[in-house]
Amino acid sequence: MVGRLTALLAALRTGRLTLPYPYQPAPAPRSYRGPPVFLDDCIGCGACTYACPAGALSLRYLAGDDVVVLEHSVARCIFCMLCADVCPMEAVRRTSVYELATDNPAELVQRLEHRPAHCADCGAAYSTLRAVSEAAGRVGGIQRYMLRCPGCRAVEVASVIASSRRGGGLA
Ligand code: SF4
Ligand code: SF4
Repeated sequence: MVGRLTALLAALRTGRLTLPYPYQPAPAPRSYRGPPVFLDDCIGCGACTYACPAGALSLRYLAGDDVVVLEHSVARCIFCMLCADVCPMEAVRRTSVYELATDNPAELVQRLEHRPAHCADCGAAYSTLRAVSEAAGRVGGIQRYMLRCPGCRAVEVASVIASSRRGGGLA
């Protein structure tokens, strides 16, 4: 009996130690790493899709190459933030969201849409207009290679080499 009274008095002295969550919101710990969110500063360069180790990011050309969509799947994401490390636009922000359970999978997908850039030679979509424009701005103007898809650039390099071997030299 004395032991119980001692315990009760100790509890009254200490006060409440537990949180009323889920009846009231509870802040995440400062060190908690939640899913990233992709901001409108994104230019659709696709660098984050190559860095993502979990296959949570994709850059897809849809609607007959009329739109480029960066898609992030929170369900696949492991919250490592490598995407933020490689993003040249600082367009990825860490969040402290932890209530992710849902019966609607669409709520776990974020999509950003971009207008595609089409190759000046073959017409194929190969990047986004914002990515090309940003790159041009960083180097002081549009460069020839920026307007061509990787395939047409490779063909051009090969034709320069072939021409050189025939004695034509560089164009
Ligand atoms: S946080 Fe990691 S797993 Fe999630 S999208 Fe970024 S790179 Fe991929
Ligand atoms: S700008 Fe950043 S977030 Fe957008 S596609 Fe490039 S790396 Fe990813």
